[in-house]
Amino acid sequence: MKIYIEQIPDSGLELSETCQPENLDLNKADIRFSEPINLSVRATKGDNIVSINLKIDSTMHLNCSRCLEEFIYPLSRNIDLNLLIEDKKEIDITDNLREEIILSYPLKPLCQADCLGLCATCGQNLNKGRCNHGTSKKTSFKISTR
Ligand SMILES: [Zn+2]
Ligand SMILES: [Zn+2]
Repeated sequence: MKIYIEQIPDSGLELSETCQPENLDLNKADIRFSEPINLSVRATKGDNIVSINLKIDSTMHLNCSRCLEEFIYPLSRNIDLNLLIEDKKEIDITDNLREEIILSYPLKPLCQADCLGLCATCGQNLNKGRCNHGTSKKTSFKISTR
């Protein structure tokens, strides 16, 4: 996403844009979006600096780190950037946008805060129903006391 500095009036510039995730080169980071990314930008010009408030809204597909089920994760970020103009005619915030999305990606995604995960013995998704096995902690305790 590019912002042309000469198009920023003294009162500031407001822009809304829809960005296709595939244009952001996020595949390497294995980030999957379920819809385009909505961006809204407010840019103001100062002495040799452009201040940008960027709002990012979309939804990601994530896989739960406990039960491995796919779920939808809403992405909503609001960031402020201050970028030097120097002798540039335009500023490109694509890198900032990509970085922000990667940073907001949860390291241990959970489908719900109290996700029960999978049974260590049979692989049953315990959110969907119990199996006949106890928890893996009890099993290892019995073995260690023998
Ligand atoms: Zn889960
Ligand atoms: Zn089981």
